[in-house]
Amino acid sequence: MYFDYIVVGAGSAGAVVANRLSADPRTKVLLLEAGPASHPWSRIPVGYARLLTNPAANWLYSAEPESNTNGRRIPVPRGRMLGGSSAINGLAFVRGQAQDFDTWAQMGNPGWTYDSVLPFFRRMEAYQGGGDDRFRGREGPLRVTNSEPREPLYAALIEAAGEVGIAHNPDYNGARQEGIAMSQATIASGRRMSTARCYLDPIRRRANLRIVTGALTENLLLDGRRCTGVCYSVSGTRHEAQAAREVIVSAGSINSPQLLELSGIGQPERLQKLGIAVRHALPGVGENLRDHYAPRTRWTVGAKGITYNDTGRGLALVRQALRYAIAGDGLLGMVGAPIRAFVRSRDGLEAPDLLLGWVPMFTEPGPKGPRIARQSGVTCYAHPMRPESRGHVHAISADPRTPPAINFNFLSAPADGALTIRAVQIARAIMTAPAMAPLRVAEAAPGPALTTDDEILDWVRRVAETTYHPVGTCKMGADAMAVVDARLRVRGIAGLRVADASIMPTLTSGNTNAPTIMIGEKAADMVLKDAAAA
Ligand SMILES: Cc1cc2nc3c(=O)[nH]c(=O)nc-3n(C[C@H](O)[C@H](O)[C@H](O)COP(=O)(O)OP(=O)(O)OC[C@H]3O[C@@H](n4cnc5c(N)ncnc54)[C@H](O)[C@@H]3O)c2cc1C
Repeated sequence: MYFDYIVVGAGSAGAVVANRLSADPRTKVLLLEAGPASHPWSRIPVGYARLLTNPAANWLYSAEPESNTNGRRIPVPRGRMLGGSSAINGLAFVRGQAQDFDTWAQMGNPGWTYDSVLPFFRRMEAYQGGGDDRFRGREGPLRVTNSEPREPLYAALIEAAGEVGIAHNPDYNGARQEGIAMSQATIASGRRMSTARCYLDPIRRRANLRIVTGALTENLLLDGRRCTGVCYSVSGTRHEAQAAREVIVSAGSINSPQLLELSGIGQPERLQKLGIAVRHALPGVGENLRDHYAPRTRWTVGAKGITYNDTGRGLALVRQALRYAIAGDGLLGMVGAPIRAFVRSRDGLEAPDLLLGWVPMFTEPGPKGPRIARQSGVTCYAHPMRPESRGHVHAISADPRTPPAINFNFLSAPADGALTIRAVQIARAIMTAPAMAPLRVAEAAPGPALTTDDEILDWVRRVAETTYHPVGTCKMGADAMAVVDARLRVRGIAGLRVADASIMPTLTSGNTNAPTIMIGEKAADMVLKDAAAA
């Protein structure tokens, strides 16, 4: 099979790349996705609760035990279907700060300042929530809406935040991020707006685009220092596909470095130990793993009818289902954390460095994923946005079906622990502000007995999990540990790029879906421009 371009992985970035590259009917594109075409729970926003532990749509990775996090295996869910993680994620839409991208540019990546990437952020979205046209797009494929502040809890939180000096900011994706806000979401008309829905569904009939699901890419085909195609398997049968121009790897922060390693691109000693022939030494492959490590503070709510523990269980769930059927909102149409705050850990900082997000209920583990608990409460996660701790992801077998080993090294940078403690303290300040008093809120976790920094940090080590934002394992840059250059070309190999969250040199200040879609948009633009210039 011959194509101009082969895209591996149909996730947040890959679906975008495949869409843009196949816009010209003369260009033949193959999109390979290991997972299925869809999953019924992916269409309904609250379905993420059902997909979090569902092997039909999720790779269900987990991290290696580490002493800093009490030897726990922290879950690492990753979407495995068309749309990738955008098809199972919590639907929050957050670009990050202008400074994030300016920092990338300063790290040796020309073309990545915020001013340079803003056109791609605008191109991708159809934002329906107002805001300033200089920053927001109206006609892109991805529909983005505001969560509605209908429930009394949200009004109380906005007021309480104001009482501790955190102002309301109606558009954190606009001129500035700081403040408390209702979350913007990849939800429209009550439906999840994954990249499968927004970038692939409208173009399924393009004769020049072939989408193969259930197709696990096992390795890249290399001819010397040039990538010529891929080897993939469907239902146990192996196939080869040739790319006349380029292969774009968009398999995500866990699988992209694994695929490079399986193809002989990575740290020579590591590959040799696995019996993989070294084709190209590239020491940064799999390094620089970063993620948000976030404790969930928990608050019981004494006032009735405030949380979904009261209004989303038993008979009330039937009412929620009706509400969803009629209006597309309520519990079933809800973004993971409908209200969030971007705050500064101390005065004098140029920009916020902490993120707090509130979930209007207590959940507990159930047989099919988290379920709504009986006890009424509010969960508030709180964490530093730009952690310094870095880990790694590496293949541990030459077999592509063996999951790679994920080591986060959370809290290995002391600053991360200190900032996490500060985030918990700010959560406490907001939840105990006068505006929350009518809700009769009481701290359940970490609990009022834990007061010193050491006690809080110890609790963080015992309970925190990620907010599912691994990035950085095929870092973009110009230094010796960079895997791709600023045009996302794998250093030293022709005809091969990586375009997904793995290329981020640092974590963005917030959730990672929006910046990853931007990376897909920018990658496609660079591929097309480079082809035109050749
Ligand atoms: C549970 C969860 C909640 C999240 N919540 C939010 C949120 O609320 N807001 C937000 O902004 N971000 C959120 N994120 C993060 C965000 O969704 C991801 O950062 C983003 O989707 C990553 O995009 P990607 O293109 O790098 O990878 P992915 O979207 O994961 O895509 C990779 C694709 O490649 C496929 N693939 C992998 N290996 C192979 C192979 N060998 N052959 C073929 N195909 C392969 C995968 O199946 C997958 O479809 C969440 C993520 C998760 C998992």
